[in-house]
Amino acid sequence: MNRLWSEMVKRTEPYVPGEQLNDPDIIKLNTNENPYPPSPRVKEAIVEELEGKLRLYPSPTADELRQAIAETYDLSTDGVFVGNGSDEVLAFSFMAFFHPGKPIRFPNITYSFYPVYAKLFNIPYELVRVNEDFTLPAESFFGSEGGVILPNPNAPTSLYMDLSSIESILLNNPDRIVIIDEAYIDFATASAVELVRSYDNLLVIQTTSKSRSLAGMRVGYAIGHPDLIEALVRIKDSFNSYTVDRLAIAGATAAFKDRKYFNSTVLKIKETRNRLIEALKEMGFHVLPSQANFVFAKHAERAAAEMYKQLKEAGILVRHFNQPEIGNYLRISVGTDEQMDSLLRKLEQVLAVDIRI
Ligand code: PMP
Repeated sequence: MNRLWSEMVKRTEPYVPGEQLNDPDIIKLNTNENPYPPSPRVKEAIVEELEGKLRLYPSPTADELRQAIAETYDLSTDGVFVGNGSDEVLAFSFMAFFHPGKPIRFPNITYSFYPVYAKLFNIPYELVRVNEDFTLPAESFFGSEGGVILPNPNAPTSLYMDLSSIESILLNNPDRIVIIDEAYIDFATASAVELVRSYDNLLVIQTTSKSRSLAGMRVGYAIGHPDLIEALVRIKDSFNSYTVDRLAIAGATAAFKDRKYFNSTVLKIKETRNRLIEALKEMGFHVLPSQANFVFAKHAERAAAEMYKQLKEAGILVRHFNQPEIGNYLRISVGTDEQMDSLLRKLEQVLAVDIRI
């Protein structure tokens, strides 16, 4: 600690993102990126934007992109906010809707950025314990003092909570914000966006990083009642008017307009996921019923930390969390069919070696 640090810096405990190795030969299954490239329309739109427009500031309201998102969900543009990745939209939401002194609730096993933001913005929090099978007990989110935030599907468990449970959380927090972080929703049954018209305390946050293959471009967005969107705009405009750059606005807009490409990529990933789950089960893994673009699995006889190491040595990177309840699980992103075949072949070798836990 340095004597010149502010109190805010002193209390931070920064988030540690998954490793980003530069080796192109690594099979990278550790940060839930999409194995397929973005729609070809994205490149076209970016190249067009590059020609002569980069000297100009981008639109501070990113109307073109907000409109493309609104059309995708059949909403009006004033119900959409865009930001520099959903992490930024989440951070702005903590500032816009949570209060120092009023504890918010989120699951004890969840996206590890939430406690980081809570500390940064001085928001107290209560952890809701997940059930034995990692599902979320909806009732435990009822009557929160400061609001609720949860991912659906949850990360890193990959489990989906149905919309009737989400609706019960909304009904039982009528004067508190309920934020549903839908980073992985396009691989799941149904989005809570359809509840936005009925509940003015619901904010849904999504990203282009997973289902639209744009993790490198950093575009996330929130959907909610126009009054909630206005709050986010007020925070953004008190911080940085241009959080989404020209190339990102053009590229993400093109990605939303190419629905055919989006649908086919999502379908491919879901098919590969289901094949992967079956294959892992046959090898003696317990795999949670994933509705995301990753699976969460543990082996009856093998320590996850050991498998993580052996896979890494073989050039396959997955995610292992050194955390009590989930320390024996591996989180594996769904890649291409060929990548999954390599993973399964390597796991077969690893499991054939007779080292038990
Ligand atoms: N929410 C959850 C649950 C996530 O897993 C991630 C990805 N790390 C994000 C939000 C952030 O995604 P991005 O900032 O790339 O939009």
